[in-house]
Amino acid sequence: MIVILEKNITEEQIENISSYMKDFGLEVHRMDGKERIVLGAIGIQPNFDIRKMKSVPGVADVIKILDPFKLASRTFKQEDTVIKINRTEIGSTNLALIAGPCSIENDEQIFKLAEVVADSGGTVLRGGAFKPRTSPYSFQGLGEEGLKLIRQAADHFKLNVITEVMQTEQVDLVGKYTDIFQIGARNMQNYPLLKELGKAGKPVMLKRHWSATLEEWLMSAEYLLSHGNKDVILCERGIRSFDNPNRFIFDLSSIPVLKGMTHLPVIADPSHAALYSEHVLPMARAAIAAGAAGVMIEIHDQPEKALSDGPQALTPKVYINLIEDLKKIAEVIGKKF
Ligand code: PEP
Ligand code: MN
Repeated sequence: MIVILEKNITEEQIENISSYMKDFGLEVHRMDGKERIVLGAIGIQPNFDIRKMKSVPGVADVIKILDPFKLASRTFKQEDTVIKINRTEIGSTNLALIAGPCSIENDEQIFKLAEVVADSGGTVLRGGAFKPRTSPYSFQGLGEEGLKLIRQAADHFKLNVITEVMQTEQVDLVGKYTDIFQIGARNMQNYPLLKELGKAGKPVMLKRHWSATLEEWLMSAEYLLSHGNKDVILCERGIRSFDNPNRFIFDLSSIPVLKGMTHLPVIADPSHAALYSEHVLPMARAAIAAGAAGVMIEIHDQPEKALSDGPQALTPKVYINLIEDLKKIAEVIGKKF
């Protein structure tokens, strides 16, 4: 249920309305929009009478949220969520450009690629230090050493950092170095991790599991929101379908469909869906045209030597050309990088 408050409501009245709801055992979430203040209530009991709620002084209207994801739903919040971190905006008409290697490999590599990201107008440097690999024999990441390197490289080029956290025990450590936590596709339903990151005090980018429906994905976002984190970014990275077991299907349609379902921004990751770098380009262009809040692209100066995801990595030259295309597409739809 959402309770829409009257326009000129006082803080005292808001407090009274909140207490009224809390007395019925409801969990109250406040949302200050440009036009209105809304209180979201979770956990409605059978003895709660919505009609009575409408007569509490200061209440303009009461609407039931039918979606199982309450705080993530468009009904709860009509305005798009915009997340701001220094120069980066995610969810506005300023598109977010996130790029970097799949894994942080050494200082030379991450500094070189950070420079490419900065030169392209990007504001967020990506790179994994804890890598969730299908094979236990594959490179697992540099751990804290990698976190230190990506932080140094990002600071040097005035970029923000996004990096993956795989388990609850790593949250404090990763939080020391990153600006945005990345939850990988494999961990989309790691509920203890979601709860912990709900309290982490920094934005979280939640990747879609390749077999998750949009509703399941938004229910995972709901874990973050209901544990106190309002800065949630969704990331479409491709889903499994019946064709070609070696790659994922980039679910382009999820971008406009989610616009109707949720106020949360959606970043497109065409790299993990594509598998091969030549397929990243058209999918990245399509994602911007479809309304994504930005892109996350994997790059590498020597893809053939990359320790993870080399075949999908764009070389700096190809990447820079792509970004030029994306800038033109953005302009057509009234956005900019
Ligand atoms: C990654 O971003 O490098 C990654 C491992 O992605 P995903 O979780 O989508 O597979
Ligand atoms: Mn990768």
